[in-house]
Amino acid sequence: MSGGSPLSLQGTAENGDGLLRDRKGRIARKLRVSVTDRCNFACLFCMPEKDKISWMPTEEILSFDEIERIVGVLASLGIQKVRITGGEPLLRRDLEELVSGITRIRGIRSVDMTTNGWHLERKAEALRKAGLRGVTVSLHSLRSDRFAKISGLDALPRVLRGIDKALDVGLSPVKINSVAIRGYNDDEILDLIEYARERKISIRFIEFMPLDGLGMWNYDRVVPGKEIIDTVTRAYPLEAEGRGNSETSSVWRFRDGRGSLGLITPMSEPFCDDCDRIRLTADGKLLSCLFDTDYHDLRHIVRNGGTQEGLTETIVRAVWKKPDGVGYMPWIKDGWAKPRNMNAIGG
Ligand code: SAM
Repeated sequence: MSGGSPLSLQGTAENGDGLLRDRKGRIARKLRVSVTDRCNFACLFCMPEKDKISWMPTEEILSFDEIERIVGVLASLGIQKVRITGGEPLLRRDLEELVSGITRIRGIRSVDMTTNGWHLERKAEALRKAGLRGVTVSLHSLRSDRFAKISGLDALPRVLRGIDKALDVGLSPVKINSVAIRGYNDDEILDLIEYARERKISIRFIEFMPLDGLGMWNYDRVVPGKEIIDTVTRAYPLEAEGRGNSETSSVWRFRDGRGSLGLITPMSEPFCDDCDRIRLTADGKLLSCLFDTDYHDLRHIVRNGGTQEGLTETIVRAVWKKPDGVGYMPWIKDGWAKPRNMNAIGG
């Protein structure tokens, strides 16, 4: 664990490497950039009811130039990997221009994206040409009626075409994210796995987190990772690969080599001790943790003539205060100050 003050990160004696370290000594290496809070889906574990949504005003949303400027400063502080998300990132017009801009930033090694897949068939090729590495598509059901119920839009065939297109144009890795919710799709785990195995792509099941807009989260709706493994091992021989350093998912390989299974278990087995992720919201707030309620405004600095030093100082202080993590938070028992809904944070 490192001691010292946050500003010792800026090249002074104690932490002369200039990296983004927090109080616990974790180093931030990955950035999720949300480019919009808007979404054309209304997934019930994410968005509020339609009449309760208030989108961020357009003028509060960062422009591509503003995002690139902030990512540039973050890259100079050691951020190496960027994932573009939202809301639905592909609702942002000409997103490939942002992808291309970010890939050119010194120090950035990869740019990936998480999407609901609606616009993927149309955009996959341009995104790959712009330098996007891989894409993670959210897919919570393979039954049209259920997909529509969970995602709020009758879009299953179109999303599946998007996944095929992403594979065709050579985006790599192509992954699937599924939020498992008891009583909604937990009987489809093996079907979703079979779909992914047929394409030799990896599928990851995410435990339902209390970041939904409908307030439907409770522990009974969480399908713990262990339960998923028990179900899957009854059907397929698996080999545990474990969780790589600072990765979100524990990985299991199918013994026959067809794809892999990942479990993202923030609820049952939090993985905060080596977390290396920070987030930039669409309205320019830096979040050091998904569950953080302390929002650090970078847009204000960027729009008011702030310098690189000004941005650096705010970023360094924000990351220094990164919370210990969801596993240490008392709120599950005692009540808590809920941050924004997932669509406004950027998943
Ligand atoms: N619109 C894109 C999509 O659907 O993938 C990107 C944004 S979405 C917020 C990013 C990821 O967060 C998705 O895989 C989604 O399923 C997941 N997600 C949203 N709300 C969640 C929740 N309450 N618990 C767990 N995962 C959630």
